[in-house]
Amino acid sequence: MSSEARTAEDGAADHTDGCRRVRRHSGVGGQPAGREAAGDSVFTSSIEWERSFMFASQVGAMERLLETSVRHANSRHQFGRPIGAFQAVSHPIADMKIRLELARMLLYRVGWLKREGRLALLEATMAKIFISESLVQTAMGAVEVHGARGYLTDDGIERELRDALGGPIYAGTNAVQRGILAELLGVRGALSGGGAQ
Ligand SMILES: Cc1cc2nc3c(=O)[nH]c(=O)nc-3n(C[C@H](O)[C@H](O)[C@H](O)COP(=O)(O)OP(=O)(O)OC[C@H]3O[C@@H](n4cnc5c(N)ncnc54)[C@H](O)[C@@H]3O)c2cc1C
Repeated sequence: MSSEARTAEDGAADHTDGCRRVRRHSGVGGQPAGREAAGDSVFTSSIEWERSFMFASQVGAMERLLETSVRHANSRHQFGRPIGAFQAVSHPIADMKIRLELARMLLYRVGWLKREGRLALLEATMAKIFISESLVQTAMGAVEVHGARGYLTDDGIERELRDALGGPIYAGTNAVQRGILAELLGVRGALSGGGAQ
């Protein structure tokens, strides 16, 4: 993250300093965003939506990286043949497709549950972890397929990797997501780590 972005985040934190101030400005027409003492469920619901759909764009990024990698594997020649003829290049591309389709299925499942008006905390958590980590792997794969072109800024592949690296961190780190998932599966204390401060 750039120092500018960090400053923007620090600024946001300053603005939320004090519940009274947040309440006065958070709802429509100056009304609170929810019932008094319902902050926990309002937060849980909004974070569920965030985890559900913010990562849809990452599925799109995976598709874009796959298409770019296939094009490059066919057009770039080394040792008298397209580099896609080497298994070291073609197999990671096949894995990109597997990750893409699994990520899409997880995303669609969350979308279906929300359209049915159902809770999707467990599914959204799984989707967040899988999609964000899959994009990192796919972006790493795309850099490798593109060789030095993947590393240079000209073609935008390295930018995709930089963008991807944020996914496992924002909207709750994946370590915390795994704790939530384990708790939802009934593992007591998985999130709090035994409650130590
Ligand atoms: C690109 C980007 C965009 C962001 N956008 C936003 C935004 O729009 N709004 C916003 O509010 N925040 C945003 N963030 C902040 C983000 O939510 C936090 O960085 C994230 O929650 C982790 O907090 P932290 O950086 O303080 O790390 P820490 O909480 O200090 O965590 C450091 C490490 O310890 C691990 N850890 C901490 N607690 C636990 C635990 N209980 N169990 C297991 N492991 C744990 C973490 O997984 C991590 O590996 C953004 C961050 C990034 C990188």
